[in-house]
Amino acid sequence: MDPPAFRLARLPVLDDPAFRRVHAALPEARLVGGCVRDAVAGRPIADLDLATPRVPEDVIATLRAAGIPVVPTGLAHGTVTAVADGRPVEITTLRRDVATDGRHATVAFTTDWREDAARRDFTINAMSMDAEGNVWDWFGGRDDLAQGVVRFVGDPATRIAEDYLRALRFFRFHARYGRGAPDTAALAAIRAAVPGLAILSAERVWSELKRILAAPDPREAVRLMAETGVLAAVLPEAVARERLDALVAGGAPADPLLRLAALCPDADVERLAERLKLSGAETATLAALADPAPAGDERAWRAALASRGPEALTAATWLAEAEGRPGDWAARRAWIAATPRPVFPLRGADVLAEGVPPGPRVGAILAALQRRWAEAGCRDEAETVRRWLRETVAATGA
Ligand code: ATP
Ligand code: MG
Repeated sequence: MDPPAFRLARLPVLDDPAFRRVHAALPEARLVGGCVRDAVAGRPIADLDLATPRVPEDVIATLRAAGIPVVPTGLAHGTVTAVADGRPVEITTLRRDVATDGRHATVAFTTDWREDAARRDFTINAMSMDAEGNVWDWFGGRDDLAQGVVRFVGDPATRIAEDYLRALRFFRFHARYGRGAPDTAALAAIRAAVPGLAILSAERVWSELKRILAAPDPREAVRLMAETGVLAAVLPEAVARERLDALVAGGAPADPLLRLAALCPDADVERLAERLKLSGAETATLAALADPAPAGDERAWRAALASRGPEALTAATWLAEAEGRPGDWAARRAWIAATPRPVFPLRGADVLAEGVPPGPRVGAILAALQRRWAEAGCRDEAETVRRWLRETVAATGA
């Protein structure tokens, strides 16, 4: 059998109880993909993905016989999910591609580890590791990781034509693992593949964009996306890269929606959300981000804090700062963090208690009082607002 390329000692992932349990039942299984990459890089590991030469039926039967619950989560492509120690572990039968169409592959099972590695996208993602820390690394993944190079396994143009999503995945991994000059062959192939990106569904595009924008520092990846024409193809609304750069340089949180808002300051939120198929919650957040930081004095800020809440208002300060609007935005964020959110002190019941009959007038009176309260800087306590209420009712009749 193919000998391992090197061995890693004292890896915490190998002591992970979920891994140990599944491995005890499937001793031939190896860790694959992102968890090996991150183990080799000495980074924290997100998901545990295993591969095995056994066919899925065998994997399921063996795990069940060992008392490990298993769910056939993706049988069509050979994946089952075991739940060990309360943690999901994906186990996929080794595969090779039989046919590809630019997005989906028809796969056949194989027992050849190298074949399975060869269909993976990048050298850093194509290593596998056994329970002793032996790593098989056919394509130089460890060196590429050490040098910060994201390199396709095989010919970049061929690999992208098999699955255009890989052109976007390149930037996801470049943002997280890339350092220095990117692989020129990869960039040339990506540039040539831009027209093919139209095959990708909006959901896939947004899911990749989100991951790119969630990287600690996506500036260089986004710059390369612009340079290759990928950015204009998948996110034509991204007209303000300098704002993304300023946002990241200023230390704003690594929030993909905040970064999207900075990149696309003029975008029609509804249309962008519809095009990228954002979730309802994402759309609402992006819409809130389109509301600029208040321009006025302390009263305007207190009113904004009351109506928008600290999180949205803080986000607005980051965007204002990235846009270059003058102001001491750091001080403003400190003020938001230190200021309790003002709460309008009256309810409908208070209006009814003054003798106003139930009906639309109750809401109208409340809204007017709340406006006055906000204009006064949301400072006035219940007693003052109640006095205004009594004055209103006295002036206009119950
Ligand atoms: P992350 O930490 O971002 O999840 P990951 O490496 O786990 O990184 P996934 O998208 O979860 O990335 O994919 C898991 C593995 O499957 C990859 O490491 C790679 O080996 C392989 N892979 C996933 N998608 C593709 C693809 N489109 N083409 C080729 N290989 C792929
Ligand atoms: Mg993953």
